[in-house]
Amino acid sequence: MEKIQMVDLQGQYKYIKPEVEMGMHEVLESAMFINGPKVREFQADLEGYLNVKHVIPCANGTDALQVAMMGLGLQPGDEVITADFTFAATVEVIALLQLTPVLVDVLPDTFNIDPEAVRKAITPKTKAIVPVHLFGQAANMEALMKIAHEHDLYVIEDNAQGIGANYSFSDGTVAKTGTIGHIGSTSFFPSKNLGCYGDGGAIFTNDDDLAHTIRGIVNHGMYERYHHDVVGVNSRLDSLQAVVLKEKLKYLDFYNERRKYAALRYDDFFKNHPNIITPVREAECDSHVFHQYTLRIIDADRDALVKHLQEHQIPCGVYYPIPLHLQKAYKDERYQESDFEITNRLVKEVISLPMHTELNEEQLSHIAKTVLSFLA
Ligand SMILES: *Cc1c(COP(=O)(O)O)cnc(C)c1O
Repeated sequence: MEKIQMVDLQGQYKYIKPEVEMGMHEVLESAMFINGPKVREFQADLEGYLNVKHVIPCANGTDALQVAMMGLGLQPGDEVITADFTFAATVEVIALLQLTPVLVDVLPDTFNIDPEAVRKAITPKTKAIVPVHLFGQAANMEALMKIAHEHDLYVIEDNAQGIGANYSFSDGTVAKTGTIGHIGSTSFFPSKNLGCYGDGGAIFTNDDDLAHTIRGIVNHGMYERYHHDVVGVNSRLDSLQAVVLKEKLKYLDFYNERRKYAALRYDDFFKNHPNIITPVREAECDSHVFHQYTLRIIDADRDALVKHLQEHQIPCGVYYPIPLHLQKAYKDERYQESDFEITNRLVKEVISLPMHTELNEEQLSHIAKTVLSFLA
């Protein structure tokens, strides 16, 4: 059996190698490394795929979130509500811009931000909500957009883990995650569902004015050469990364299908096990693209399971082991432990198994049996 990896980028590369190398060669020959035609081509392809008016490529997913917030004109002291159970980048940029992060609890089944907790956290200073489509599953956008509309708030979707997911509204309309809020962001970090071979990110919006503002912000606040109208940043996607992304975008749906298939196989192995809760999908929604396949381990020692898997050369991850509200950088005396009952429990229960596009039946079965042998 081939060595099991958490993410198998070498295996995936084999299938796209000639096209990627040819594209990279073209860039090397043209020497148009920055703002070259490859970036514009990828941008147009992604706009088409997502059915969104504007994609603005940038340097990484963290910048994408930061620039989104800058573009909306959020000001120091404005409160921004986000989930306690997510990667730190989400809250980091809020704090960095001197906005006030307001962390709220998540739902135990989907791990996504709890709309009721959002509602309770709203104050006159609240300006935005940042839902994260955690592990690849869409947050409850219908409820969140309704709350945002009622309270005149912006919604910024952190879609770093959810690219390609379809969200279905109760009226039957379907939209790609990242294109539903006022603005969305994503990351093209190599291990993400659409990853490049370095750092990359993008911002999505259907708002023409906001897109214009953001195109200037990512380019030193310039709208006209050497006229700096606003304080900007330097955040660009380079042409070599655009080559990789343009090629991989063609396969994104296929890659996500491969992930969903692996998830279904895992589900079968773990069905009805008293110590395992398999990932819950929102009913009738094709809304989960399995950036991670994350189990909850109940009435058993999760940390010992991690060790057991490591001893059997099976990589796994604990995303995330510490709630953000307990991180030194993000502590706030306004928080009460009782506000984070679910996150406090999840950090002790979750374990993410290998999840990528190259997992085969033999590997999936071996991983599942090794998990089950520990819990037996
Ligand atoms: C990966 C990730 C980011 C940051 O993306 P980078 O490209 O690594 O900066 C932000 N939010 C979430 C939820 C992520 O998973």
